[in-house]
Amino acid sequence: MTYLPDMFVALNDSDTHRTCGTCGKTKELDQFYKDGKDSHGRVKYRRDCKDCYKRTRMLEANMKKKGSAK
Ligand SMILES: [Zn+2]
Repeated sequence: MTYLPDMFVALNDSDTHRTCGTCGKTKELDQFYKDGKDSHGRVKYRRDCKDCYKRTRMLEANMKKKGSAK
């Protein structure tokens, strides 16, 4: 898994698309989970896309399972 520096990733953001900080792919905003609002009242989105978010959650769940299966 490659993590891109935040600054590099932000350069590729647009009004309709956003670059995932985990997989580095540029996807439509609806492929990202909302993450509250910024100081201007605009919706913020998570840096990682839904696919990567789900994958991260699954990995975490698996790690927890392994940890408790001793
Ligand atoms: Zn991603």
